[in-house]
Amino acid sequence: MTVRTRYAPSPTGIPHLGNLRTALFDYLLARHFGGQFVLRIEDTDQTRYSPEAVGGLIESLRWLGIEHDEGPDVGGPYAPYTQSERLDLYRAAAERLLAQGDAYECWCSSQRLDEVRADQQRRKVPPGYDRRCRDEAGQAAARKEAEDEGRGCVVRFKTPLAGEVAFADAIHGVTMFNLATLDDFVMLKSDGFPTYHLAYIVDDEAMKITHVLRGDEWIPSAPRHMLIYRALGIEPPVIAHVPRVLGPDGAKLSKRHGATSVFEYRDQGYLPEALFNFLGLVGWSLDDKTEIISKAQFIEHFTLDRVVKSPAVFNVEKLQWMNGVYIREVVPADQLVELFAERLDRDLSPSIPRPIDRGLVARIAPLIRERIKVLAEVPDYCDFFFTDDLHYSVEELLGKAHKNDPSGAKAALEASAGAVGGVATWTHDALEAAFRALAESLGAKAGDLFSLVRVAVTGRRVTPPLFESMEILGKARCEARLRGAIAKLS
Ligand code: GLU
Repeated sequence: MTVRTRYAPSPTGIPHLGNLRTALFDYLLARHFGGQFVLRIEDTDQTRYSPEAVGGLIESLRWLGIEHDEGPDVGGPYAPYTQSERLDLYRAAAERLLAQGDAYECWCSSQRLDEVRADQQRRKVPPGYDRRCRDEAGQAAARKEAEDEGRGCVVRFKTPLAGEVAFADAIHGVTMFNLATLDDFVMLKSDGFPTYHLAYIVDDEAMKITHVLRGDEWIPSAPRHMLIYRALGIEPPVIAHVPRVLGPDGAKLSKRHGATSVFEYRDQGYLPEALFNFLGLVGWSLDDKTEIISKAQFIEHFTLDRVVKSPAVFNVEKLQWMNGVYIREVVPADQLVELFAERLDRDLSPSIPRPIDRGLVARIAPLIRERIKVLAEVPDYCDFFFTDDLHYSVEELLGKAHKNDPSGAKAALEASAGAVGGVATWTHDALEAAFRALAESLGAKAGDLFSLVRVAVTGRRVTPPLFESMEILGKARCEARLRGAIAKLS
């Protein structure tokens, strides 16, 4: 058997991280077994459809490195991969169920359905269609009303009134459902579009999907699906309800937990490799302890038996930490230089000339990769390498140490400029030795002197290591910047 999985998002907005986590599991399962991963667009809810969303879904998969083998953009043997282009198939299935007596046309108006619901609420009985059209006389009356008003009908499944249906889930085991609690649900809407229940079953069968992974919020619908599979004579695929993704407070992951869109994370400078690794651990684990896992290792080890049952928590702090690890230890140096340069090109002030000097970035990268967690931090850490136009105030320059001693600061800066002039071999070791000696001869704390020089030379209080930075800046620029600071204090 060739394992075939699918990611079947509804294009209603920006791809949500919870859905992408499920897509990732689909992808990993397919790759683990050497099978195929399919992208199918489930656009049957025309009221929530957003045309730009399809592009976003594809872009998010591509960015994360979750490559699909078949889909609306790449084609494949089971095309089309967009449900709105497959309506004939759903209609044929609905007609078959009608002919078999497993479904019926319902002509009730939405107004009547609202009244039924309101009445059920009043009587505190479970909501559900009251089956008026299941009965021949009721249907004839409803049909007459509908035709008089120019309305169409929906197709409902004729759920058995008693008995049980079993549902076997690859993660949650077997559950029995009492059919008396299920109503006659809609499979085909009056606009000719199917509901999710019918459409996904028809498509999974047609596309030879072997494993269905979806969020556990779908568990309550599973018994209905079992009825449809049975009525259509389809052997159900393996179905696995994977844990939904929650915020740290236990509520469904949403905006108030931070960004939920993959594109926001991309903008903040999270690396796709890190997000891939992080999402792969939201509801699955290799051994309960390993955190940094490569794509190849995920593919090698991913199986459903290590997917957890309980909801999985999306912890942004852990993602930040992991992104930092990728920047420090995982991403190859040349790739990091490219990423830093792109970020600088994008975010440095437009007054700084382009193109960004890649050679300079290559020298700076080792100094900052240790210090940052996301790429958005890069420009603030190193803008002073790219411009001599530094903006800092006298207060910032003086800091706590020289707050009440501007003339002492000025003298220290003058001595510093002299020290810089006297450094024969321009290396960070030589600079550090010279400045330690200077602090001693001035009777100053080394840390206080270094802070003063740091602001003078970089315009910032938090920077990469000072002497390494000065080494890269070069003697002439350091001297000029020290003179600039002295002028500020004069
Ligand atoms: N279109 C459904 C959704 O976006 C898909 C669920 C499934 O994977 O079957 O929730």
